[in-house]
This record gives sequence, structure tokens and C-alpha cells, in this order.
Amino acid sequence: MSTTATLPLADRTQSLVGSVIDSSTSLLAAQKHDIVRFAMGSPAAEAIPTEALAEVAGSALGVDRADSFDYASTEGDMGLRTALVEALEGTSDATALERVTITSGGMQGLDLACKLFVDPGDLVSVESPTYTNGSATALSYQAELLEVPVDAEGMVVDALVEGAERAGRKPTAIYTVPTFQNPSGSSLSLPRREQLLEVARQWGAVVIDDDPYGLLRFAGQDVPSLHELAAGDPLVSSVRTFSKIIAPGLRVGWIDCDPSLQQLLINAKQAMDTCTNLPAQRLVEGFLRGGHLTEHLVASRSAYRERKEAMHDALTEHFGDIARWTDPEGGLFVWVTFEPAVDTEALFEVALAEGVAYIPGNAFSPSRRFPDALRLCYASTPPARIHEGVARLRAAVDRLG
Ligand code: PMP
Repeated sequence: MSTTATLPLADRTQSLVGSVIDSSTSLLAAQKHDIVRFAMGSPAAEAIPTEALAEVAGSALGVDRADSFDYASTEGDMGLRTALVEALEGTSDATALERVTITSGGMQGLDLACKLFVDPGDLVSVESPTYTNGSATALSYQAELLEVPVDAEGMVVDALVEGAERAGRKPTAIYTVPTFQNPSGSSLSLPRREQLLEVARQWGAVVIDDDPYGLLRFAGQDVPSLHELAAGDPLVSSVRTFSKIIAPGLRVGWIDCDPSLQQLLINAKQAMDTCTNLPAQRLVEGFLRGGHLTEHLVASRSAYRERKEAMHDALTEHFGDIARWTDPEGGLFVWVTFEPAVDTEALFEVALAEGVAYIPGNAFSPSRRFPDALRLCYASTPPARIHEGVARLRAAVDRLG
């Protein structure tokens, strides 16, 4: 018998499902052989703006800056909050100071949103496939999940309505990754965004608008964010992060929601981590004030366009006969579906031995609806290595037989 079986664990531990995505970081760190890493959704080492960050660190975290190592205000350091509001001016995420609370990454924004809105047994709708950590967060508050299919135009809102009818109750929260979705890469079209907001208003359901990739468009036409379309409707809380637009290790993000919610966010955050890491907030503030974000986004978009094209070319060359894949206009991910079916969980070990890593499709569905799909992150790998990785993946599929 394991020790935990004898301990008086809380019931909620049964709903703590973890994340296959996050666990892949330690799994891959333990490997000694060369692996092309399409697993984690992180920018490449060479895409981290280290020069600008080092320059900013010199003044924000220098020898005379003991103040940068103190506790910060729970709602976020005022310097970062004001720099952020200025940096977002003119974007689809434009906002006001009183709406912004700084979080420890996007994950804490999701946790706070669920803490405020999800009671045990509540129905929460998630996309299918969805970002595992988002559905896991709702589960950690003991939600019941309604999985809603995604197509090339994002979440199928009609299916959300039908799913609620079948369930005989309305979701209290609708969780969506509307732009360059993780994992499918697809984006909610404008009509669907409007329809989603209408449905949420009819139901009085909150929308958790998790959009870390919206600023990483490299093709197609801009679509307004749910935040912009909602125009201050308190039902919509927008979770954002610097992880994909500066660096994930900073662990700095923000939640943009109705000002009436801020005190509750503060109360909840004070019971979690008091404040977001101040040195990291000061780094981000300096990065924004130095005007580096605009420049960095231009470079990131162009690198990701090139990498997505390399991924598509390599998939066409090696998988044209046995798979189809999505065509994202931004973000980091391509979603591949095998036809005829390939068991992508069984494939994982073989692929790892061949020297390539990805995330199996079932990791993105609480009811494991995608056994024959997988997610590839093209953003972390230069084009030539992308070709190598996809060739290794094909060798693994052939070996699996
Ligand atoms: N939401 C989505 C859709 C994501 O893809 C991620 C990161 N993979 C997050 C939230 C979490 O962001 P962070 O790393 O800043 O916690």
C-alpha cells in the first residue's frame, strides 16, 4: 500500500490530474540523447531577448536596487501595471489600470478565475481539444467538464449549446483559448466570438478568455479579442501572460477583469503567494518601458512564420500519405491527425528513442478523445532541425508499424 493511501487526503486530491505537458519538461531533461523538442510550448533559446533583458537588469536589479527585492503590492507593482497599460494601448487588449492585476504567469490567472467562479460540481465548458492545464485547473476546483468540439473556426458554439441541452444545465463558466488555440492552432472566427458572448450573456455564464498568443499573428487578418468585443462586460475575465511574448521562466502575467473583482483577486492571491516575484516584474517593466516589446514581437512573428512553413513543408514531405494537419495563422502549434489511425501514446516511447518529442493528443482531452492526434510546437526549433525532427517522427511511425 502506498503511504498516501493511509493519509487523510482531501477529496479534492482526486481531482488533481496534473499536466502531461508540464511533466514533459522533467522527462526530457532526464534524457541523455539528442532530441528534437516539439513538446513544450516555449520560445527557442535564441528567441529569448536576452540582450534587452540583461540591459534592463543592469538598472532594474542593480546593486543600488534593494527596493526591487522587497515584497510587492498584491495587485502588482504600480510601475509594471502602468507600463503594461501604456504598452497595450492601440492593441485589441487595450485596458485601464483599475482592470489589471499582475499574476504569477497565465496559470495563476486561470487558477484565480476558477477560484472566484467555480464551485464543486459546477459545469465548466472546455474546448475539445483544450489546453490541459486549463481543464486541470477547473477540475482542481472540482468542476464537471463539458467538452465542446473545435473546428477550423475555433470552438463550435452551436455544439456548446447542444451540449448544455444534453447535460440539462448551463455551464457556470466557459473556458476558451480563442486565438491560435493551444493545441489546435485554430482561431475563433468573429461571428463565433460574437455568438459565444451572446450565449454567455443569455446564460449569465462567465467567459474565461485565455489568450496568450493573440499578439503572435504572422498571417491572415486581425480578429478583435474577446476582451475588446466584450467592451467591459463583467462576465468576461481575460487571462494573459508574458510567457509567450517575452519568456516563460519570468512567470509574469496579468488578469484583466471588471474592477469590482479586484479585491477578491487580491484576497485570493494573498492566500497563494502574497505577490508576484518583484525582480521579474521590474524586468518586464524595464523591457516594456525600453520599447523592446514591439521590436521583439516583429522578430518573433517572422521567426514563427518561417518555422511554421518549415513544419508544413516537412509534414507534407514525410506525412502527406498518412496524416492531415492544421494551418495556424499565428502562435506556436500545429495539430496533426493520423489517417489511418496511429496510437500516438504508444508512438511516444518509440519517437523518444528515435530522438523526437511531442505531446500525444489524448493529453488535451479529459475524456481522451484524440488517441490518433498529436501536438507539435514549431516555435522552439530552427527550420533545419524541424525537418530532422519530422523525419525522425516518420521513422518512429514506420517502426511502430
Ligand atoms: N494558457 C494557455 C493557452 C497556454 O498555452 C499557456 C502556456 N502554455 C498558459 C495559459 C500558461 O501560461 P504561463 O506559462 O504564463 O503560466
